[in-house]
Parts: sequence; C-alpha cells; structure tokens
Amino acid sequence: MLQLNETHDTSLTSWVDSANTPGCDFPIQNLPMAVFRRKHLNENFRAGVAIGDKVLDMAELAKLRLFDAEVNAAIQCCAGPTLNHYMALGQEHWSAVRLSLSRALRSGSALQPKIEPCLLDQSVVEFTVPCRIGDYTDFYSSIHHATNVGKLFRPDNPLLPNYKWIPIAYHGRSSSIEVSGVDVRRPCGQLKPADAKAPVFAPSKRVDYELEVGIYIGTGNSLGEPIPITQAEQHVFGFCLFNDWSARDIQPWEYVPLGPFLAKSFASTISPWIISAEALAPFRKPWTRDPDDPAPLSYLDDENMRQQGAFDIQLQVSLQTEAMRARGESAVVLGQSSFADSYWSVAQMIAHHSSNGCNLQPGDFFGSGTQSGADDSQLGSLLELSRGGQQAITLPNGETRCFLEDGDRVVMSGFCENENAVRIGFGQAQAALLPAEN
Ligand code: MN
Repeated sequence: MLQLNETHDTSLTSWVDSANTPGCDFPIQNLPMAVFRRKHLNENFRAGVAIGDKVLDMAELAKLRLFDAEVNAAIQCCAGPTLNHYMALGQEHWSAVRLSLSRALRSGSALQPKIEPCLLDQSVVEFTVPCRIGDYTDFYSSIHHATNVGKLFRPDNPLLPNYKWIPIAYHGRSSSIEVSGVDVRRPCGQLKPADAKAPVFAPSKRVDYELEVGIYIGTGNSLGEPIPITQAEQHVFGFCLFNDWSARDIQPWEYVPLGPFLAKSFASTISPWIISAEALAPFRKPWTRDPDDPAPLSYLDDENMRQQGAFDIQLQVSLQTEAMRARGESAVVLGQSSFADSYWSVAQMIAHHSSNGCNLQPGDFFGSGTQSGADDSQLGSLLELSRGGQQAITLPNGETRCFLEDGDRVVMSGFCENENAVRIGFGQAQAALLPAEN
C-alpha cells in the first residue's frame, strides 16, 4: 500500500498561485491527470495534469525532456490521446512522474520558467474519456444501498444471502461512458408495469442517477493468473466520480434471469480528472466489518487491507432543474456519502474479479456501485430518496421529484479532507437529461 512521502507534505505550495487557495480541488498534493484539448481548435487530445486552475500540457512538457530518462519516457506516454500506455507502465513509473512534477511545480523550483509556457487555463479546455476503456464492470459495494433497494422488494429480508460473502457485480458497457458535460438522452425501452398484461416500448419514466466512485485499472494480469489480494492495489491507476445513469422501469422487466442490460447501458458519466491512489494515501481508513458478519474468505482477506483498505472519499450529488436554471438558482444537494462506508474494498473487488483467472487490462474500469450511507441524507439515488417512486421529494423551490425530468442537470462532486492533510478535490461529473428521441 502506498505510503506518505514528500509529495503529501502539507507545507508544500506551488508557484502556480491558484493552487495555494485553501479549499481548492487541485493543490500541489493532488496532481490528477486528464485528457484534454483547447476548445474550438480541433487540435489533438493529450494528457494534462491539474494544478490550481491550470492544466499542465504533458505533450508540451514531454518535448522539453526536463527530467531523468525514465521519467521523460513515462511523460512521453502521456502525449497521445489515450492514457493506456501510461497506465500499463506501473506504480513505480507513476510515482516517479508524480515526484518529478511535485518538485517542478513547487514554490522556488528552478524549472518554473521552462514549465510556465506549458500551462493552460482550465477554462479554455475541454476533456474526453482519458483512455480506451476495454471493459467496464459495475459493483454493488454499498451495503446501505443494497439494503435500501432490497427493502423495496423484500421488506422483511432485504439483503440476498450472497451479499456478505461475495462482491456482487455485472459486466457493463464501456462504449457509452462519456465525460462530464456530455448530456444524456432519456432512453426508450420495454416497460411493463406489474399490473399490465404486455410490455410497451416507450421512453423510460424512471430515469435515475447513481452516485458512484469510478476506479481505473493500470497494470493488468495475464489470463489464468489471479491477482492476490496482497497485490491488488498495485493495479489501481486512479479514481474518478461516476454517474451510472439507470432506467428503473426498464430494469425490472429485462433483468430476469441474466441481470442488468439496457437499463444501464444507455449512458454513464465520468469526471475528467483521475485522482491517483498515491494522492489518496493520506485519506485511507481501516476496512472494518461487523463482528457478527461472516469473515471474508481468505482470498478476500488481508491484514494490510484491514489496517487501511478504505478510501475516505466524500461524495455529493446535486440537482439543478430547468426551472432552477432559468431563475439562476444553483443546484441543490440531494445526498452526501463516503466511499469509506463501502462494504467491499477496492482490493477485494480486484482480487475477486480476477479470482477465476479473468484478465484485467490497462484502462479497464470499475464502478463501485451506488454509494449510500445509513442516513436519509446519505442516499446515492432517487430510487432510494423517493422510496421506489412512492414518496416524491420536494425541492427548495417547491418542485417535486420521484425520478429525473427532462432538463434536470445532475452534478456530482467529491473531495478528501482531514486534519493531517491538504484537502484535495475530484472536480465534477455533471450532465443534463435530454428528452427522449422521438
Ligand atoms: Mn451502478
């Protein structure tokens, strides 16, 4: 597991002034990566690193060859439009690049005059999906979410018997994962209310968001060679925010017996910046389990994971309706939760996913599953907030919602904060729901 090092030093400041603003998402302790280009110029996408309100253009930086050969070569892997080659390099290389950038961007660095021309304002750039995502797997790691959803169907017995033994997941669809800002079309599908004799094909009336953490796989494993849980975290490239849009009325009819399909595959939204596992080192917490719950099977258990297997990422989902936008009202918070409450850890997800020999590849993507907490203020979906659509919520302007209406904009944000570290942020994953195609 990654240890604290000089890049986490709370006293570090940057010569990029905006990075030193208290509470900013991208201080020098963060250094997340995205793939971007300047808007309206039709230029090539390439990787960039966030520092304050700037983005460091890694393609320009690569040309300067300012660092040792190994770091220069790694930075060269960031000059193209996808990060897959960089993701395949492995933790040692990612750490070496992080250390070099931290030293180069900190106050007093002699490299400032050379690097300054490689900085762009984040306000002039647009982002894209940062790698070719080969496979996308969506987990179900929040026991609170699983219990809340289970209660809607089985009030007396909400959790299925496998939940506490096995990390539940399904194989999702990577082609429809889009970056923040790309709006989402309301899907059509087969809908069959319980009392109807036959389904109809129509626009979904129950489009929902899911507040999730996205996890990018860096180095993979060979087919047939499971990743032991003790090594699982070495395979994590980084984290983002993830809205796994869902059509709650398509799913109940289609998912028997093979699981979610078109109710999930119409769209998912990622935040552009990938926060490295190393940046999250100060925000680790013990992975714990209720003593009354079954202990994990040995391939899912590890002492190191028990010590600090959880990531304390604070998550928030907000909604801005069309009416709110028209009146200039900002988005209203609907739920806040922490990834530290996840029942299953990231290491367990990786160990379990590969336990049958399935190979993970650089750029593969996991959704954590909707992250909800125990309280009503910590719910990560409208399905939970509206009790399965039975109890509309009332927004501050008097509008009500069971599920999303056309024009609703869903905004997810995330950050990590504690007294021993500098706060780091994730930026945003936001998109509006467009009317169904006629
Ligand atoms: Mn999901």
